[in-house]
Amino acid sequence: MDIHIINTGISSSYLIRDHGSVLIDAGVPGRIQKFEKRLKDLQIDPEDINAIIITHCHWDHVGCLKGLKELTGAKVMVHQNEKDLLEKGTLKIPPPVTRWGKTMHFLLKGMGRTMSTEPNKVDVIIGDEGLSLEEYGIPGDIIFTPGHSLGSISIVLDSGDAFVGDSAMNKFPLTIKPNLPIFAEDEAALKESWKKLIRKGAKIVYPGHGGPFSVEKVIEKAEL
Ligand SMILES: [Zn+2]
Ligand SMILES: [Zn+2]
Repeated sequence: MDIHIINTGISSSYLIRDHGSVLIDAGVPGRIQKFEKRLKDLQIDPEDINAIIITHCHWDHVGCLKGLKELTGAKVMVHQNEKDLLEKGTLKIPPPVTRWGKTMHFLLKGMGRTMSTEPNKVDVIIGDEGLSLEEYGIPGDIIFTPGHSLGSISIVLDSGDAFVGDSAMNKFPLTIKPNLPIFAEDEAALKESWKKLIRKGAKIVYPGHGGPFSVEKVIEKAEL
């Protein structure tokens, strides 16, 4: 199995290849060429991608979705709680939960107008029970992990690699070290979601912002 990081500036998307290929998240807006170039460099036919899994519907995770859908023809997957956000292109920034989060929230709100997204159609709605990715050729599952947003989902592979969207962050100016998110709709739910991820075997955390790290860091920060 291969894991490729596709960087679109502040956020990271991930391409997972095993018997099939799936893409996790669609980056910040206006970076479709980055995806095209990376796929070309990796010699991957875009049409081999079976699914685009959106961890949650913030502008920096759905930015190139329209272009990626056209490029790949892949099925767009999102949790039922955020289907309407994606289909209407609604912008929403969760409330800050740290002092730095408050500052960032203020700055991002000021950018609000440029952060709304284009409406996108959802092909597969993920329920709270999640979904096995077996039929997409990937040994792992989609898990419902609310907290950062109310419809956040994560992907945990049988190998212990866990793609958690913004359930953790590891990139300046959001955080300076691996940490929990600075914005969250529901902090208690976030903590429960981490317990669930650990029960499901998460070992290496791949956040939506920044590089991978050990799940031990989360256990420490969340006091699990
Ligand atoms: Zn984000
Ligand atoms: Zn987010």
